[in-house]
Amino acid sequence: MNVLQFTDNGIYCPAGDFYIDPWKPVKRAVITHAHSDHARWGNQYYLCENASVPLLRLRLGNDIQVQGIAYGETIFFNGVKVSLHPAGHIIGSAQIRVEQDGEVWVASGDYKLENDGLSAPFEPVRCHTFITESTFGLPIYRWPKQQQIFDGITQWIYENQQAGKASVLLAYSLGKAQRLLYHLKDKVDHFLAHGAIAIPHEVLLQEGWPLPPVERITPDTPKTAFKNAVIIAPPSAEDNVWMRRFQPYSLGICSGWMQVRGNMRRRNADAGFVLSDHADWAGLLEAVTATGAEQVYATHGFSSVFARYLTEKGIAAKEVTTSYGDEEIINNPES
Ligand SMILES: [Zn+2]
Ligand SMILES: [Zn+2]
Repeated sequence: MNVLQFTDNGIYCPAGDFYIDPWKPVKRAVITHAHSDHARWGNQYYLCENASVPLLRLRLGNDIQVQGIAYGETIFFNGVKVSLHPAGHIIGSAQIRVEQDGEVWVASGDYKLENDGLSAPFEPVRCHTFITESTFGLPIYRWPKQQQIFDGITQWIYENQQAGKASVLLAYSLGKAQRLLYHLKDKVDHFLAHGAIAIPHEVLLQEGWPLPPVERITPDTPKTAFKNAVIIAPPSAEDNVWMRRFQPYSLGICSGWMQVRGNMRRRNADAGFVLSDHADWAGLLEAVTATGAEQVYATHGFSSVFARYLTEKGIAAKEVTTSYGDEEIINNPES
């Protein structure tokens, strides 16, 4: 039984008449997390995990109709049972479990297995069919432990300060930026941030997340404030006049793509930190195995490689095309 189907509008549940992360406007959307390729504008009703509600409102406007539920809470659509389970990707991120007549499908959204200290840690959910992301579905992607990465970042900041330079860290504004702030808060006295990071940061502070204060950079921020400073900026700020005011500075990029050395050189970074909010190859395999699923659909990322590997291992897997992107720095040859 196809509890979920892949349609032109997105992942659809015909019996429950709702979509998961639809990429075209629909009546009822169940949202895995607040990243823009998953939580799109124009749906009539949104359902998401409680912690995602203020992030969805921030991104899509205060007038959206959104209902929040807790992890593990159950809601029924025409008798189809729906519940949300931690995906460990960013604050509020959820896997969507859908059960119809005893048949269980789970759509993962984006996920990672390592506990980042802020997102509710990933929980495997037993199911018959698992729809998994595969952003880093190649065996070359193996993440070091995050403590090792944060130690490296701390050391790099220290060396920059010894050399009289600011440290500019490029990190995606929702997820990666908070993870950096959370893990560096005892090592760094003062953070400055681009507005794209400072705005969601304000919302999260109001919601009570344990994050350090951040000074928002404005055109009035004096140049003296940047001396030896730690600055967090979104990837879009790179190659931008906005960065010039920080000189002298050193540029560090935080992304899973930094595992491939050429990506760092291509981006003119002084340092690449392999920090990802997605599962690496081993994490994807571990997650898929833990579901016990007999059928797997691999979406965005290296879906064909990953699906082929699973098939060779005896799990019926197929690649499906979706409109989800990659919120990490895009690995395109032009950049
Ligand atoms: Zn995401
Ligand atoms: Zn995604």
